[in-house]
Amino acid sequence: MYRFSRAIYRELADEIVEDPHTVGCNVNHERVLRACEAAVERLATDRRYFAHPARTLFCDIRAYFPMSAQERVLRVIELYLELADEFLRRLPQNGFDAYGNPLQCRASTRKGTPCQRMPLPHNGYCPSHQHLAETEELELPTIAA
Ligand SMILES: [Zn+2]
Repeated sequence: MYRFSRAIYRELADEIVEDPHTVGCNVNHERVLRACEAAVERLATDRRYFAHPARTLFCDIRAYFPMSAQERVLRVIELYLELADEFLRRLPQNGFDAYGNPLQCRASTRKGTPCQRMPLPHNGYCPSHQHLAETEELELPTIAA
């Protein structure tokens, strides 16, 4: 998945403004790269609760770019996040997530073991556990390692 965040970073790296007081270290470059990675990671693991990925990432990193580059920054972000999103949307059909792990229903069985059935792409639960998707808005999403 990191090829998408690295592509955004590579496209924009030349325009990142560093604070003149921190010459020698690329603090802002580091921040931009981390923000891109976080956005792509969230897209991969938490897509249903990530309504405006491009907007969110743009707001996170726009401060590190000069005024003249803002429009281009937004366009680059939109382009690559759209590509990443498209890539991710095709994944559930082959039964693996973006990291190559087999997809499983997010519920546990009555015995307490993870449900092994294939989840539906839109909510991550198998047909018999779909009702759980309605109550889960209250839970915090699990972050994949
Ligand atoms: Zn299930």
